[in-house]
Amino acid sequence: MADAEEPMAVDGGHCDISCDWDGRWNHVRKFLERPGPFTHPDFEPSTESLQFLLETCKILVIGAGGLGCELLKNLALSGFRLIHVVDMDTIDVSNLNRQFLFRPKDVGRPKAEVAADFINGRIPGCKVVPHFKKIQDFDESFYRQFHIIVCGLDSVIARRWMNGMLISLLSYEDGILDPSSIIPLIDGGTEGFKGNARVILPGMTACIDCTLELYPPQINFPMCTIASMPRLPEHCIEYARILQWPKEKPFGGEINLDGDNPEHIQWVFDKAQERAAEFNITGVTYRLTQGVVKRIIPAVASTNAVIAAACATEVFKIATSAYIPLNNYLVFNDVDGLYTYTFEAERKENCSACSQVPQDLQFPPSAKLQEVLEYLTENASLQMKSPAITTTLEGKNKTLYLQSVKSIEERTRPNLCKTLKELGLSDGQELAVADVTTPQTVLFKLNFTT
Ligand SMILES: [Zn+2]
Repeated sequence: MADAEEPMAVDGGHCDISCDWDGRWNHVRKFLERPGPFTHPDFEPSTESLQFLLETCKILVIGAGGLGCELLKNLALSGFRLIHVVDMDTIDVSNLNRQFLFRPKDVGRPKAEVAADFINGRIPGCKVVPHFKKIQDFDESFYRQFHIIVCGLDSVIARRWMNGMLISLLSYEDGILDPSSIIPLIDGGTEGFKGNARVILPGMTACIDCTLELYPPQINFPMCTIASMPRLPEHCIEYARILQWPKEKPFGGEINLDGDNPEHIQWVFDKAQERAAEFNITGVTYRLTQGVVKRIIPAVASTNAVIAAACATEVFKIATSAYIPLNNYLVFNDVDGLYTYTFEAERKENCSACSQVPQDLQFPPSAKLQEVLEYLTENASLQMKSPAITTTLEGKNKTLYLQSVKSIEERTRPNLCKTLKELGLSDGQELAVADVTTPQTVLFKLNFTT
C-alpha cells in the first residue's frame, strides 16, 4: 500500500481544508436528497440530513484495531466529521497487515492517536479526536455527549461494560423509558472467518447481556482438571502456565509470563511437553502453546471489512433516519462458502443488565459461598469474571468476598467455605455484586430453598 503523505481527493476535485468542493458529497446526497424504494416509510428527502452528519452528529468509535480502522475510514468517507475514538493499545508490527491506518514507523505508538492523525490528514474537514485510554477511564458525562456509539472490540468484557454504561444512562419516569436518553449501540465482532453486526437500542431491544448465551463459553479449564486429570494438550499448557510458572519463577520472581517473549513461550512449551509425556497426551506444539498463552484468535482482514461496512451502514441509517435499521442481529460466516443471516435477538425478561428486574439467587441455607461464586461465574447468562460480593448485615456493609485486592481476598477467603447460614445471611437478603463486566453493581436477592 502506498504511503499516505499526500492527501487524496475524494470524488475528484481539489482538496481545500476549509470548504467542501463541488460534488464532494454527491455519493451521500443520492441517499438523502431523493426518494427511493428502500427508504424509511417516514423519510422525506432533504438537505438537512447531510448538514446534520457534517456539522452536528457526534460518533464514538470504541477500538482502533482491525474493525476500528475500517470503521473510521467508512464513517469519515460517509460524511461523519465529529468522531471520537478510544483505544488503550499501542501498534504492534503484527497489526500492519490489516490495520491499514498504521505504517511501520508507527509501531509502538498509540493506535487511537495514529488512526486519528491519518484520517484527519487524509480526509479534509474530518475531526477525529483520539483517546489513548481504557473505556473504564471515562464516566457518564463523557459517553452522554455522543449520538451513536460503535464498538469494534475483541473483548466480551469490554463490550459488556460498554453495554452496561449505556443502560446506566437511561432515564425512566414512572417506569416509562425516556427515549431521548437512549444512545444506540452498534456492535461489530469478528473471529477469524466469522463475524456479527448488531444494532442495540438500550432499554428497547436485546442488549449484549440478553444474548450472552450466544457467546462461546470462555476457554478456561477447571483447575482440578489442569492440576490432576489432564486430557488435552491445552490442559498441559495451562498447567505449565498457571501452576508451574509462578512456582518455579524461571526468569526471576517478579517477571510475569509475556506471550510475546519467545523464551517464555519456549519454557512453557518444554514444561507442557514433559507434562504431556507423563500422561500420554499428544499434540503439544510450540504454536499451540503460543495460541493458548496469548489466547490468539486469527484475524482475517476481509471479515473485518465486511462487518465494519455493515456497522458503518447502520450508523448512517440511524443518524439520518432515512432507512430502516438492521433488526437486529446479523451473522456472517465464510468458513465454507459464504453465509449471512439476520434475525431478531429478543430481550431477556430478567436480563441482569437491562431488565430492571431484581435477580434471584436460589440456594439452600446450607450452600457454601463458594457455590454462589461459581454460579455467578459459570451461569451462561451471567458469566461474571471476578465477582465481589457485599451485603448489609446488622446495618453494616460487609464484604463477603472480593478477589481483586490481594489483602481483602486473603481476609475474605475463609468465607468461601462457610455456609450462607453461617455467614448470617437470611432468606430475602440482598447481595450486591460488582464485576468487571459492568460499571454498575448488580443486585441479587437471595431466596432460600429447602
Ligand atoms: Zn439485556
